[in-house]
Amino acid sequence: MTNTTIALVTGANKGIGRTVAARLAELGWTVLLGSRDPERGAAAAAELTARDRRDGPRGGDGPRVHVIELDVTSETSVRAAAKLVDAEYGRLDVLVNNAGIGGSRAAAVDVGADEMREVYETNVFGPVRMMRAFVPLLRRSAAPRVVMVSSGMGSLAVTTDPARLESTLIGLPYPSSKTALNMVTSQYAKALPGFRVNAADPGYTATDLNGHNGHQTLAEGSDAIVALATVAPDGPTGGFFDRAGPVPW
Ligand code: NAP
Repeated sequence: MTNTTIALVTGANKGIGRTVAARLAELGWTVLLGSRDPERGAAAAAELTARDRRDGPRGGDGPRVHVIELDVTSETSVRAAAKLVDAEYGRLDVLVNNAGIGGSRAAAVDVGADEMREVYETNVFGPVRMMRAFVPLLRRSAAPRVVMVSSGMGSLAVTTDPARLESTLIGLPYPSSKTALNMVTSQYAKALPGFRVNAADPGYTATDLNGHNGHQTLAEGSDAIVALATVAPDGPTGGFFDRAGPVPW
């Protein structure tokens, strides 16, 4: 069994998730780069490994980024991934539930249950599926940490504050899915007192999710997630944070 920290990041073939994977690998951790498409995952891992080689050895032995095929909407896929991690590593130290989709931005009254369900499948039920499958492996860690990648758009306080950009954006499925994820995070934190389970708001970051309209860089958008993935065993749990500090629920 390896002594390095083992982290799994879902939806890590691009965007914020890929940057989180890169930054955790830079710490010398073994990073499992989750991707629902194995080819997109392999391309991202190859790029990160090449970058690692260019930057010179950091004392590890062999590549630290490994692709793991993982579609968070599929029970079969999630279970197979957990089985593989169990067989290869015997435990998991850090789980970053990052995979997310945007969904319809239609006016609230025009949104149907199917459009809601599609977004919830990824943004809410995905992390729940992941927790069900991976908590047994996380329990074998000396310092289990879970980061739920939420959004300021999921905060009732932020989205009703006229001073915040988030209060001007509309949408039913995405914001409410992140609100649900916040409560899911809080409940897991209570259920798992030995764990650090927190929600992160990356902030408005230029990625495919928003047509690259976000004003933050990927480095900035990954700051809160990396901070929570590396949080001390006696650090906060059951909280919601952005790169500047606590976010109101
Ligand atoms: P992105 O560039 O669109 O990346 C999303 C990632 O999630 C991709 O790797 C995508 O894979 C993956 N994904 C989607 N559905 C999946 C599924 N069923 N199973 C596994 N992976 C799946 O978006 P991003 O901006 O980096 O978003 C990352 C997280 O940050 C999301 O949870 C998002 O809600 C959150 N967030 C983003 C912002 C922002 O401004 N960008 C702000 C607040 C919160 P494919 O390539 O296969 O589609």
